[in-house]
Amino acid sequence: MLRTRVSIIAGFLGAGKTTLLNTLLRETTEPLGVIVNDFGEVNIDAELVCGQTSVHGEVALHNGCICCTLRGDLLTAVLSLIRRPQPTRHIVIEASGISEPAAIARTFIDPRIADLVELSAVIGCVDPAELPTLVGQDWSLATTQLRACDFVVLTKSDASSQGERSVASALVRTLSPQARILESSFNEAPTAVLLGAAGLWTPGRIARARPANDPAHVHQAGEHAHGHHHDQHAHLFETWTYRTTDPLSAVALRSALERLPHAVVRAKGFVHIGEAPQAKLLVQVVGSRVEFRHHPNTWEGPPQTELVFLAREGRLEVRELEGTLDACRYDPRAPGKHYIDEMVGHFSRILDAAPNHGGTR
Ligand SMILES: [Zn+2]
Repeated sequence: MLRTRVSIIAGFLGAGKTTLLNTLLRETTEPLGVIVNDFGEVNIDAELVCGQTSVHGEVALHNGCICCTLRGDLLTAVLSLIRRPQPTRHIVIEASGISEPAAIARTFIDPRIADLVELSAVIGCVDPAELPTLVGQDWSLATTQLRACDFVVLTKSDASSQGERSVASALVRTLSPQARILESSFNEAPTAVLLGAAGLWTPGRIARARPANDPAHVHQAGEHAHGHHHDQHAHLFETWTYRTTDPLSAVALRSALERLPHAVVRAKGFVHIGEAPQAKLLVQVVGSRVEFRHHPNTWEGPPQTELVFLAREGRLEVRELEGTLDACRYDPRAPGKHYIDEMVGHFSRILDAAPNHGGTR
């Protein structure tokens, strides 16, 4: 029987996994099943993937991690894609930034699935500017992820220098000597190479792939704790979601997000801003980098801000952060001169950057 191939996209928080997945989906000629895992309550990455014509079945797994708390859901999702009337022949899994690919790989030796799938390759994403700055548990998680990779893609070439890419490349070579390192600008991923690798993972290799003793974990911060995430594992991370239907000020929000406490390792979500009430903006925060981008989809239902914050377990001051974000509410009496200045600055930065684009091959 023809086995369904599985490719895993892994990598630390904010490393560019969704962007790589979208590039692969855009460039491939092969129909792909897609499984997207978001650590928080909101399916942000899944929404960023939808609408691509090469998607042949899609499952979004959120509010947990597919290497541990959602492992059973991962198995069910893979089976559901294989058991469709037109079975999916190749599934790409985008892991959350805290997932360990070796632990995900071990899902595929489950007897319910072992004869149906073949794990092709683990593709790691690395943000070259970010990797060398990771310390402590973040570094240990990022390196555990890298050790399982067959390919490592250096992402965000337009946001990193040649020097940063060389340093990151050398680190990856040391940590993961078996991995092939590829560079990718936003539009140039070697799709055929990444998706064409078959048979790299034998059952023996999967069995030998040892995840760290305590896989990373998520649970809800503050009062909204859900007991079902506690399981038997140690918790390294917690998430908290900020929601409001009140429009926020883009200027105030950007400024607040640039000054997030160090405990916050990642934030992302959709925001509803007073300066442009119809626009659905996607916000990504990686370290101190804050990016606002127009999302092509319109709001389904009333506009609502939903921002997911991921932080080290026990270190997120939810009330303080909530207060900071509440203070970003848009005040129509203080309209958007700052916003206009900001947008002018934004577009001039894009124009400044344009001549270099694509010159990093
Ligand atoms: Zn996990």
